[in-house]
Amino acid sequence: MAKGIVLIDEDRCKGCGLCVTVCPKHILRLAEGRFNAKGYQPVEVTAPEACTGCALCAVICPDVVFTVYRQRRKPKRVPAAA
Ligand code: SF4
Ligand code: SF4
Repeated sequence: MAKGIVLIDEDRCKGCGLCVTVCPKHILRLAEGRFNAKGYQPVEVTAPEACTGCALCAVICPDVVFTVYRQRRKPKRVPAAA
């Protein structure tokens, strides 16, 4: 499975929770007891190593909070022709 890295521009987040509902790995949550510059509880990643880079969070977020990188798979080795 692909490996992803998600970057969060925390101060853009308005804490709506949409991204939390769509992450198939359930690794997003709203921070408890912590607030961003706008006064909202920002989203945070609980288990970055589980991110697949699917980018559903970035697609659904109305405030362009996420930047998602996905690691390329190694190309498959093709056996040489006989
Ligand atoms: S890229 Fe996919 S797996 Fe990673 S945090 Fe976003 S929704 Fe979850
Ligand atoms: S969808 Fe965007 S604005 Fe809403 S909680 Fe997630 S990161 Fe924040």
